Amino acid sequence: LERKIRMLESRVPKKYAEVTFLNYLKKKRILITGGAGFVGSHLVDTLMLQGHDVIVVDNFFTGRKRNVEQWIGHENFELIHHDIVNPLFIEVDQIYHLASPASPPHYMQNPVKTIKTNTLGTINMLGLARRVNATILIASTSEVYGNPDKHPQSESYWGHVNPIGPRACYDEGKRVAETLTYAYAKQEHMQVRVARIFNTYGPRMHMNDGRVVSNFILQALQGHGITVYGAGNQTRSFQYVSDLVDGLISLMESNYTLPVNIGNPVEHTINEFATIIKDIVGGNSEIKHVAEVEDDPQRRKPDITRAKLYLKWEPKIPLDIGLQKTVDYFTKELKLFKLVYSSNPLGN
Ligand code: NAD
Ligand code: UDP
Repeated sequence: LERKIRMLESRVPKKYAEVTFLNYLKKKRILITGGAGFVGSHLVDTLMLQGHDVIVVDNFFTGRKRNVEQWIGHENFELIHHDIVNPLFIEVDQIYHLASPASPPHYMQNPVKTIKTNTLGTINMLGLARRVNATILIASTSEVYGNPDKHPQSESYWGHVNPIGPRACYDEGKRVAETLTYAYAKQEHMQVRVARIFNTYGPRMHMNDGRVVSNFILQALQGHGITVYGAGNQTRSFQYVSDLVDGLISLMESNYTLPVNIGNPVEHTINEFATIIKDIVGGNSEIKHVAEVEDDPQRRKPDITRAKLYLKWEPKIPLDIGLQKTVDYFTKELKLFKLVYSSNPLGN
């Protein structure tokens, strides 16, 4: 068979040389919900470069067409404007279910919609996976641990979440999404994966994302005050987006069905983080302390023993390298933003 494949490959026209017959045999139809968002669009890039058929479904609440415009017109790529709160009928082999606002200001903007996306939307995607017998990966979050009273957080920790606080629409929405996933898996004998994603940053974050990485970089680049919420002793652990994408694909391709933390265990206080960004960007921004936010988790750091053991995965990109790439990206975004608004006759 191998010899026959090689012979067939030698007949492939030169312009399709990279699409070998062996690759063709491994090619899958992959749905990415939320694929026009920050993480989703990087996942699209990797899966497209691997030669798969990729279908993105997005309602463009926080996602943008320009995140995936490089693939529009490619024969392996499809972009569908659809809200996953409504059912979807499509034939696929794998589903990466990422659709959900992720930054606190975005998910708090319409909490009821956030809950619907994570409950009804997840039911729709699990139903789809069941109908077509696809493997489904759910993008869960470190927020399922809430304001943790265990540190670092391993997957066996059940969490400490305020069920009626301002973050509950997201935290509880994701917790129900996990519960639904395992209920379907047990009842319908489905192949499921659950990634508990920790704070992730990188190019294609939205300028108005509102999370700490984009806020601090944009403030430092514009010489504005860097706004630390509260005393700044709360901690986070930041992973670069390419590490997350590698982790998600490793999890999907593994046969591990329990939740897996995907994050970078290097932990910093928000005060330290403000200084790191100020040093990378340079400039004269001052670090200023403003009011703390309600229910802000005080410590967060993943225990990634499970990912190392079962996925042979661990993050590779150091914070300074990842932040420099992100600073370069936001520098370009700011230039573009100024260009667009200065050329708008109605702008001021
Ligand atoms: P993002 O906001 O950039 O992307 C989310 C995408 O989902 C957007 O394109 C948005 O338009 C789309 N979407 C939202 N609601 C939808 C709906 N009802 N129907 C269809 N599309 C919808 O966020 P992100 O940072 O790329 O996060 C992606 C996933 O990863 C989310 O599920 C998020 O909860 C999870 N996650 C991200 C982080 C992080 O630090 N980025 C951390 C933990 C978990
Ligand atoms: N934060 C901050 N200033 C900002 C934005 C965020 O001090 O301008 C803090 C926030 O209070 C939290 C941490 O940075 O302690 C991470 O916030 P983010 O919204 O990025 O993500 P979270 O992990 O809270 O979902």
